[in-house]
Amino acid sequence: MISDRMEKPLASWRGKERYEDEVMECLTIIVKSGGCTYAACRMCSYRHERYHAESCDTLLAHMRAQLAWVMNEYDPAEYRMVKIFTSGSFFDPVEVPPAFLADVAGAFRGKLVIAETRPEYILEETVRPFIEALDDGTWKTPLYCAIGLETSSDLIREKCINKGFTFSDFKGASQRAHAAGAGVKAYFLFKPLFLTEAEALSDMKTSISDTIPHADMFSMNPCTVQRNTELEFYWKRGAYRPPYLWSVLTLLAGAPVHMTCDPLGGGQKRGTHNCGKCDYELVKGIRDYSLSGDRDLINALLETDCGCKQEWECVLAEEKPYCMPLTR
Ligand code: SF4
Ligand SMILES: [Zn+2]
Repeated sequence: MISDRMEKPLASWRGKERYEDEVMECLTIIVKSGGCTYAACRMCSYRHERYHAESCDTLLAHMRAQLAWVMNEYDPAEYRMVKIFTSGSFFDPVEVPPAFLADVAGAFRGKLVIAETRPEYILEETVRPFIEALDDGTWKTPLYCAIGLETSSDLIREKCINKGFTFSDFKGASQRAHAAGAGVKAYFLFKPLFLTEAEALSDMKTSISDTIPHADMFSMNPCTVQRNTELEFYWKRGAYRPPYLWSVLTLLAGAPVHMTCDPLGGGQKRGTHNCGKCDYELVKGIRDYSLSGDRDLINALLETDCGCKQEWECVLAEEKPYCMPLTR
């Protein structure tokens, strides 16, 4: 049902995305919802974005009004893919009233939809009807469930992120998604709290190879320091440094699959950064690579020289868990 009332979502924008070697127009929307039911990850500020103490009907009305705003603002003929995020999990029935799922599927029928959710909400009885309403035969896989797996290490996911689910939970969700006819997109978090640069690099390499059998699309988020988070608490006290762009390039160059990466806040103190002189070009190159899949570009960027490369190599060799971070 498309509402008469219109309400602007938290964010929305048009851009391009790569899908199976093709670059296509994509609409991304971040819908304000009832908020993440879990709401305990150390680096996350999205969980603060929510309607408070609304009845299910009022929440549904708010969300329908946002969908109406989106449909009014963007011409569906101009995009083929839709990425939909809430301030938590799209398939959580407490956060997103189930009637809203039907509205979204109807509104975006014939589009390729990527919807983010925690693994426990991926149930065949939820995903299958959503796909049936969405699918008009255009896509072999009309829906991808995007899961913030972050790492394949249960120890790191529990201690450094406090994510509240295991790799085995992710694998179970991936099986259920595939059984219902959906694909799976895995999001990795590069360099959560409490890891040295070298430990974080090694964790990502292992995580990527562990996850390949269980997902169809891959994306890596280098960690950024968001406001009002536990991560920010440590960062303000000098106990955390976001990753180097050199590390991100190393991971993209070595990954056995194409991984997209959009370094939010790249080149800034709260985001992935190097020395300030080489950052702009490297961030731009990483974004270009996400679309083009051109490994030569990534390898060429890795070969470029800057004084901070030696600093990064020294950090990789010398940083220890009991004396980190070595640099800011
Ligand atoms: S990262 Fe996802 S699951 Fe964790 S608190 Fe944020 S919205 Fe919730
Ligand atoms: Zn530099």
